[in-house]
Amino acid sequence: MKVVIAGAGIGGLAASLALSRAGHDVTIVERDDTPMPADVEGAFAWDRRGAPQVRHTHGFPALIRQVLRDRFPDVLDALRAAGVREVSILPASVTPEMPGYAREAEDLQVLSCRRTTLEWVLRRCALAEQNVAFVVGVGVVGVQPGARGVRLDNDDVVEAEAVVASTGRRGDVPAWFAEHGVEILEEEHSTGTIYLSRFYRSDDAATLGYIGGRRAGLGFVIAGADNGTYSATLAVDAQDKELRAHLLDEERFEASLRLFREMRPVVARQGVPITPVQTMGGLINRIRRFVDDEGAPLTPGFFAIGDAHTCTNPLYGRGSSLAVLQATLVADALAAHPADRPGASLAYETASQTRVEPWYEMSLLTDKPSAANLANFDLQSMRRAAGSNDPEIAVLMTRMMSLLATPQEVFGAPEVVAKLAAAAEPKPRPHDPNRKTLTRADILFPGGHPAGPPSSAT
Ligand SMILES: Cc1cc2nc3c(=O)[nH]c(=O)nc-3n(C[C@H](O)[C@H](O)[C@H](O)COP(=O)(O)OP(=O)(O)OC[C@H]3O[C@@H](n4cnc5c(N)ncnc54)[C@H](O)[C@@H]3O)c2cc1C
Repeated sequence: MKVVIAGAGIGGLAASLALSRAGHDVTIVERDDTPMPADVEGAFAWDRRGAPQVRHTHGFPALIRQVLRDRFPDVLDALRAAGVREVSILPASVTPEMPGYAREAEDLQVLSCRRTTLEWVLRRCALAEQNVAFVVGVGVVGVQPGARGVRLDNDDVVEAEAVVASTGRRGDVPAWFAEHGVEILEEEHSTGTIYLSRFYRSDDAATLGYIGGRRAGLGFVIAGADNGTYSATLAVDAQDKELRAHLLDEERFEASLRLFREMRPVVARQGVPITPVQTMGGLINRIRRFVDDEGAPLTPGFFAIGDAHTCTNPLYGRGSSLAVLQATLVADALAAHPADRPGASLAYETASQTRVEPWYEMSLLTDKPSAANLANFDLQSMRRAAGSNDPEIAVLMTRMMSLLATPQEVFGAPEVVAKLAAAAEPKPRPHDPNRKTLTRADILFPGGHPAGPPSSAT
């Protein structure tokens, strides 16, 4: 079958591999017209304005490694060869005597990788495929009637029997169908935050893994990456212009990192900054519906994947894994329904509903934890449960945080929920008069608020 893919980011490249290796003839159209860099450092400098998040912190949970391992082992090997490390996240309470130890030890590994390195390796692998043709420097502006191909901004048409859209957060897929009278409904919720990120280089960076949480009203993330690099991000209320301006100053950004106790071991590495502090807004949770109220596919032969289908708050580090997973789900749906475009689209949407939509729901719940929902688990609670002394609970929560088990699977059994809730309880700490809760004012006025005494926040 002839398939055209719009967008050569993470999802589009993974789809080109999954589909070409299933025997389809693939054309992949990418609007960014930038030459393929020679190596991973060149890739880090890549002009990827179509994917402006590339130089922000990216964590790659166990799911993406598992999909690569099982579906594209050569890509995982190529990542290793490019300097990407696999870091174990096996909970400390899990011992070799535990049943299933070998599987958990194998599964529970994350990738320490820059987003640009992942994309560069995927692209090299896609370029090596005989039946993948790249068309770069040209944008897709619409779909042909019946999703029988796409129209390009140079007035060319690429005809195909199936269209995959992996156009990212900004791609306007609903407009492509509106002109054919098909309405694609979307639900969108702003995360209300902007990212401020900086990359560093230090010798042992890969071992850092991925740590995220919230404190003082800010989200924070640290992620080890490849070839001695790592990054730190603070996610700030998008309305808080004062704090954003404060953190854009490099010295103040560094001073602020030191205020977060989770960041201190990282700051102690004295990594050399390799980027300025960079900012990015427009961070959303969004899902698009390609099935009508009766459950019939609205766009037979058309498959949106990655952020073009479902966007989740980047703080939880899920988007790339879900994009790669959906790339395989498209290939599986076409394999299961080779001569049935509506059947393939429906199979794909059904699989996405089971395996991707739970993470959209979870992002919304974790953004606004409440006692009334199963996700009265904020990031800190999840981390506490993942560190439980009960190895079963620790594994369950670690699998969920790394997307290997859905929240429904984890929170399904009431007796497990009770154990998870107990494990997530904050442990009582000995009273320390010098320890106080970190606040926004501590970040803005690290030497002490003009109107009050200096603090020693943790
Ligand atoms: C600040 C930030 C931090 C993030 N952190 C993480 C993280 O820690 N972990 C994680 O897994 N995910 C993270 N994500 C999400 C992750 O980057 C995306 O989920 C992932 O890139 C999705 O891949 P994609 O293929 O859908 O889109 P992208 O990788 O964004 O690629 C879209 C591509 O489509 C091209 N394009 C767009 N429109 C057209 C058109 N009309 N014609 C042709 N080409 C077009 C663009 O140029 C681009 O190359 C983060 C996102 C942001 C914004």
